[in-house]
Amino acid sequence: MDPVRLYAYNLRLFVNGYFSNKDPFQIVTITATTVLAGVWLWEFVFQDESLVSRGKKAIFKLARRIPAIANKINMEMEKINQEFEDDVIARCQGKPFITELPKTGRTHDEILKEVEQNLTLGEYKWKDGFVSGAVYNFDPDLIKLLTEVYGRASYTNPLHPDIFPGVCKMEAEVVRMTANLFHGGPDSCGVMTTGGTESILMACKAYRDYAIEEQGIKHPEIVLPVTAHPAFDKAAAYFRMRVRHIPVDPKTYKVDLRAMKRAISRNTCMLVGSTPNYPYGTMDDIKQIAALGVKYNIPVHVDACLGGFIIAFMEDAGSPLPPFDFRVPGVTSISADTHKYGYAPKGSSVILYSHPKYRHHQFCVTTDWPGGVYGSPAVSGSRAGGIIAACWATLLHFGLEGYVEATRKIVATTKYIEQGLREMDGIYVFGKPISSVVAIGSDKFHIYRLSDGMCKRGWNLSPLQFPSGIHLCVTYMHTFDGVADRFLSDVREELAFILQEPDKKVGGKFAVYGMSHSIPDRSIVGDFTRFFLDAMYYTPSKRQETGNSKALV
Ligand SMILES: *Cc1c(COP(=O)(O)O)cnc(C)c1O
Repeated sequence: MDPVRLYAYNLRLFVNGYFSNKDPFQIVTITATTVLAGVWLWEFVFQDESLVSRGKKAIFKLARRIPAIANKINMEMEKINQEFEDDVIARCQGKPFITELPKTGRTHDEILKEVEQNLTLGEYKWKDGFVSGAVYNFDPDLIKLLTEVYGRASYTNPLHPDIFPGVCKMEAEVVRMTANLFHGGPDSCGVMTTGGTESILMACKAYRDYAIEEQGIKHPEIVLPVTAHPAFDKAAAYFRMRVRHIPVDPKTYKVDLRAMKRAISRNTCMLVGSTPNYPYGTMDDIKQIAALGVKYNIPVHVDACLGGFIIAFMEDAGSPLPPFDFRVPGVTSISADTHKYGYAPKGSSVILYSHPKYRHHQFCVTTDWPGGVYGSPAVSGSRAGGIIAACWATLLHFGLEGYVEATRKIVATTKYIEQGLREMDGIYVFGKPISSVVAIGSDKFHIYRLSDGMCKRGWNLSPLQFPSGIHLCVTYMHTFDGVADRFLSDVREELAFILQEPDKKVGGKFAVYGMSHSIPDRSIVGDFTRFFLDAMYYTPSKRQETGNSKALV
């Protein structure tokens, strides 16, 4: 007998033996329970999250049920919650909160005065380049134009193309101009969204549905570098997809291509590379990622949200990059934020595809609604025509030469800062920054001491984790005379001070950041973060308003 038949025969003997003295009812119930248990075990093992990660979570969850631990954690949570709230209260500098609609409408003068007061809150001098990223350009003249444009288009809504054909035309033109910047072919197409996150959400949605409907994939998976933006994790959470995070090379801080290749499975619905990524400003090897995409027939998304409107002009600005756009075979989509280095007001971004077949899967269509057949291109139904017009106007205001010039200045400033930092003792630069972000770390002292010191000098730099680091995202404001030099000399002076006592602990609010990295139970860090978000919506409670608690108002 061949081995398979022998095995089947033995199995049969075993089963018959097992059931020989059971009555039919027992046979039925034992079979049913075994099948159900099998299904349960299958579902338990093959969930969206890995077994190890779920195991860890389960253990931490149990630990948090132990009263002593629960009490301690709750006390810490309460303290942190209070600190977040106190921060918000301090930031509002005692300005009264409006918590009820005013009974009668206010005059325009009053309103404008209130707006001005609210907008002057905040300590950081972002207009003078003391802040990393956040505001990419500040030009009062341009703002005047954009205010005028927004005002004229403020009532328009591209949800009604027949009523507002002009605003749809402007959106189509923004998409086409951007597709051309990235060398899209005759089939290239896209959509405007409200920001980078929505652009990324839409690419993930498109590829999920493409995978399910066109490729027969049941559980679509995203394969991306750990450095890719959290918008992909958000998409995975919203759209019930699974994510595989691929480590980056510890020297270059580019995605480890061999690990990426290994992570590809028959469920993979998209590969991702960033140009550059947010933490380190390094650029993944798009050509190689796209080659994997071609080889395994998987769409490839290039996240150029941050850098899109810089990298597209770098060749003309005299600092060419390795290939990253639709000229690379296998690149099927690109996200690029007009509201970052496109210098348009916040609320706009572009998602581009190499072919309409992908965009079709982005669209959402409801055919049977009593309100009519309803189709919408992205997340929003009604959309702000004013923002589309303002973005369109910004592109025309700069023109190719304007963007190339801004890019030249920003890239030169970044290189200057990178060079200056590389010459300093006690710190190192992560990988090779390609455009406008420089990240530093240290193995001599805790780098957050530098964040803390720089913060006291008025600088707002972004903290990084795993490993700890800080980065500066260079904007147009940093290209102004003296800003880069002041940054470098402030770092130099702080370093001289820190290196006198390299082992000293991190102080100030950065101690909290530092501590949060070392907490193994990430659900606690998640809870802190939820309190932080709660605090953003702080208004004094009724009890506080009547003077029972802290006098806030
Ligand atoms: C900012 C950013 C995004 C997301 O953009 P939002 O406009 O903040 O939603 C995506 N990817 C990278 C690399 C970014 O820096």
